[in-house]
Amino acid sequence: MSDAAKTVLLVEDNEDNRTVYRTILEHFGYEVVEARNGEDGIRMAREEHPDLILMDISIPVIDGWEATKILKADENTRHIPIIALTAHALATDRAKAEEVGCDGYLAKPCEPRRVVAEVERFLGADKAQEA
Ligand code: MN
Repeated sequence: MSDAAKTVLLVEDNEDNRTVYRTILEHFGYEVVEARNGEDGIRMAREEHPDLILMDISIPVIDGWEATKILKADENTRHIPIIALTAHALATDRAKAEEVGCDGYLAKPCEPRRVVAEVERFLGADKAQEA
């Protein structure tokens, strides 16, 4: 019950999306840290050791596919679950998400509740036991 809040790294370049996802994740008790491009996302993952990463795919500097590949090739970060947020519900995107090592996948626009549900699939076990 006294477990520290789990931390989600939100890598997203769209301010409105950052606000929406941060708000609902904090409401459900998660701590949220943010990055606005792939390079910062990789740096934050290495520095902050988040419990999970929500990775928008269409982001500046290094895109989400490449950032995921880099984090999954690094033994210090490869264990962190990464949920990809892609702009289209394309079969090719789903295949690519698997290929680069994403642990989950959501097609945008995704309802905030669905984002929380997907995060809880990886991090929610403790909470479920407490309830
Ligand atoms: Mn984007």
